[in-house]
Amino acid sequence: MRSIFSLTTRIMSIVIIFFSILLSIVTYSHYISMEQYTKASEHDKSQLLLDAIEPIVTIHLFLGFDEPLSHYLKEIVQKNPMVLQLVVKDAKDQIHFYYQSPTYQTQAHSNLHLERTIYDQISPDSIGQIEMVYSNQQYTQTLNDYRQFSILILIGTSSLIIILILLLRHTLNPLRELAQELFNYNPATFHFSKKRVHQHHEVAVIQNAVVNMVEKIQNYTKRLYDLNLKLESKVKERTKTLEIANNQLRNEISDRKKAEKALRHANEMLETLSTKDALTNLYNRRILEQKLQTYWQTAWREKSPLSIIMCDIDFFKKINDTYGHQMGDQCLQEIAKIFENSISRPTDIIARYGGEEFIFVLPDTPASGALRIAEAIQNLLAKRNICHETEVKMTLSIGISSVIPTKEIEWSSLIQAADEALYEAKHNGRNRIVVRPL
Ligand code: GH3
Ligand code: MG
Ligand code: MG
Repeated sequence: MRSIFSLTTRIMSIVIIFFSILLSIVTYSHYISMEQYTKASEHDKSQLLLDAIEPIVTIHLFLGFDEPLSHYLKEIVQKNPMVLQLVVKDAKDQIHFYYQSPTYQTQAHSNLHLERTIYDQISPDSIGQIEMVYSNQQYTQTLNDYRQFSILILIGTSSLIIILILLLRHTLNPLRELAQELFNYNPATFHFSKKRVHQHHEVAVIQNAVVNMVEKIQNYTKRLYDLNLKLESKVKERTKTLEIANNQLRNEISDRKKAEKALRHANEMLETLSTKDALTNLYNRRILEQKLQTYWQTAWREKSPLSIIMCDIDFFKKINDTYGHQMGDQCLQEIAKIFENSISRPTDIIARYGGEEFIFVLPDTPASGALRIAEAIQNLLAKRNICHETEVKMTLSIGISSVIPTKEIEWSSLIQAADEALYEAKHNGRNRIVVRPL
């Protein structure tokens, strides 16, 4: 009981049981005192009766009148049905009156047996004795009634306690079980063992309400679960689509990068092609003229000398004719490398001006400086074979012009002067240098 019921219920039960036991004890003690009281009362009544008849009996025994005594005592016993037996004896045990009720034998044995010795008023000798048996029927009856009443009370209180315990067990146990089931209920498992019951008592109503609520929760949980599944599948689908799109985008970016790289390369190529000569990788004539104009402006501002070297390979046609055009190309590439190695300033530029004609533009360089470069090239060519697989020797005719630009002079006159110097070098027998300052 202790483990099942709550503190309040236990206290209530203890109070009810306590009062029931108290009621039983009170009833029992009342019964005991009632018994004593009734007993005393019956005893008093019988004593009173004896007190009442004693003087008459004394007189009659003293005088020896039996007849009136019998008459008187008969009347007495008739009026007092509780007297079951009445015997009057004298001192010699001679019976003067004897009465026994017809119900004497049926009465219980706990009747009151009374004796009263009668004494002479003058001498202290006994002159007789009254013996009386007084019925305890009334007293027994009263006690029986009260006992029944007490037993009824005991049975009542015991029944009340038993009913209380059964009621508590019957009511609270299912409630406890229901509460335990609810406590352990997990909506994810979809399991609730309690079912609806077709009864109308309070616990059944509560259980049905709980089952109803749990069913609703289960329905909602199931719907949520389904929605979650759908959502998950949609998220997966969307993620997949996004991944595909992402991959496509990544591929596109990669393609775009490749395309950009190719474009950059093409632009660089284009830039090279538009600025450089394809065979020698030297600047072309267009860039030469652009740069020469720029340098001309700078030299004019700074009043610094600007020189150009114009050189032409001697009898190149013959090389082509002898070794083939391809070998001629190779020779042009090699001489271009020699030219590039002959200059050291980053501002110096070399361009292929015509077929086998080249121009050096040397800013901030006087004619002497240009001459030194030209001589160094000629010396190098003299020492080695161009196209070393062959015995081909190449010589250069070189024209140098130099000027500190002024407002009156055109930039093109510098080329023209170099051209004239070159012409002169050719005319004078080739493989030589002619300097013609402006
Ligand atoms: P000169 O000493 O008078 O300059 O005689 P040359 O033969 O060098 O001059 P010419 O002007 O008569 O001939 C130039 C030759 O250069 C003609 C051509 O075959 C050759 N040439 C021009 N451009 C190229 C080229 O790009 N490759 C090759 N292999 N030969 C070229
Ligand atoms: Mg030539
Ligand atoms: Mg030429």
